Amino acid sequence: FFCYYIYNNTRVGVMDMNTIFDKLENDYKNNSKVSDKIKYLIDKLAQNSNLEKDEFLYILDNISTDETSYLFKKAYEVKYIYYQNRVYLRALIEISSYCNMGCKYCGINFKVKGIKRYRLTIEEIVRSCEIGYGLGYRTFVMQSGEDSYYTDELLVEMLRIIKDKFKDVRITLSIGERSKESYQKLFDAGADRYLLRHETASRRLYEHIHPSFMSFDNRRECLYNLKEIGYQVGAGLMVGLPTQTNEDLVKDLQFLKKLNPEMVGIGPYLCHEDTELKGNASGTLKQTLIMVALTRLILPKALLPATTALGTLDELGRELALSAGANVMMPNISPTENRALYEIYQNKICVDDKSEFSLKNIEAKINSVDHVIDLGVGDYIDFERNE
Ligand code: SAH
Repeated sequence: FFCYYIYNNTRVGVMDMNTIFDKLENDYKNNSKVSDKIKYLIDKLAQNSNLEKDEFLYILDNISTDETSYLFKKAYEVKYIYYQNRVYLRALIEISSYCNMGCKYCGINFKVKGIKRYRLTIEEIVRSCEIGYGLGYRTFVMQSGEDSYYTDELLVEMLRIIKDKFKDVRITLSIGERSKESYQKLFDAGADRYLLRHETASRRLYEHIHPSFMSFDNRRECLYNLKEIGYQVGAGLMVGLPTQTNEDLVKDLQFLKKLNPEMVGIGPYLCHEDTELKGNASGTLKQTLIMVALTRLILPKALLPATTALGTLDELGRELALSAGANVMMPNISPTENRALYEIYQNKICVDDKSEFSLKNIEAKINSVDHVIDLGVGDYIDFERNE
């Protein structure tokens, strides 16, 4: 009997049955060796909070279901040491869908025509905070496209009003790349944290998914400036971007280790059909969760959100992220009438919810995987703001 031997889905030649059985036996042995090696590397990572480049790559290239659950368990254990089963809630207010930037994956980039754009006035933003405060939130995240309407003066005024009204809150900005002077002014006026995902630590990939007027170096420079000023900084990335390789993801892990941010937002890339990247596959649940868990192991104390994009990809995406090392969620408290318009990706969850419903809904989800909500300000564990 002769047969085609199938290797990695390609026919590589004709073999007799005995050779095939030998081969299968060897593959089986190899697989158990591979599995042992991955588990050994995961243990080593949990011990040392770092691995060599090739070791990270070995994990990403070879990990299968059995080792994935091992990885998630380790990530959960490490999270538990610092944060137990608490999940910090941040109230998200999407303040504007106007954007000057051209991120090719994003559904509100300036090139996307025929969509209705909105922006909130300072009064509307303050009103949203009041509602959020009444519901119990103590951290507000203002996110938007890069909208030049929000000058430093206007934002300083907004920050002062909110910090004056509420003494016990933290304000996070997520409004894109600005000058160091601007970041400094906003910090001095009361901004505590800044989310600016690096998106990808691979220059090649960054340039593939952004127009030529956007700069890989500038985005990183912004992150270092924010750190230097004293913000609690959130970097982050998308998993499953078109042409992204495991080598690219290893670069993300190494960049995160070096930057050592207080927060890391990790979500799947979700293909938006009105963007120039239309027709591409979205990221997967498994790969995104693996990156969340690896990030927990390299940055044990980090604040890691179970992202809305994960919840959009899979109904249980965020709950699974909590079991794989995440410890933050960001319920949307934007005025309901604007939520659908902030469409960075399609089918975003919770666009029709009322804010008080979002909170109950999210609490139930969190409880369903044996976690509890924490409505405190939820600073990074070692953080002290030097005034
Ligand atoms: N203008 C701000 C906020 C951007 S939106 C800034 O530049 O930082 C917040 C994050 O959403 C982005 O950093 C990006 O990582 C993510 N995002 C945008 N489009 C996406 C898409 N199609 N799929 C998944 N995530 C997306």
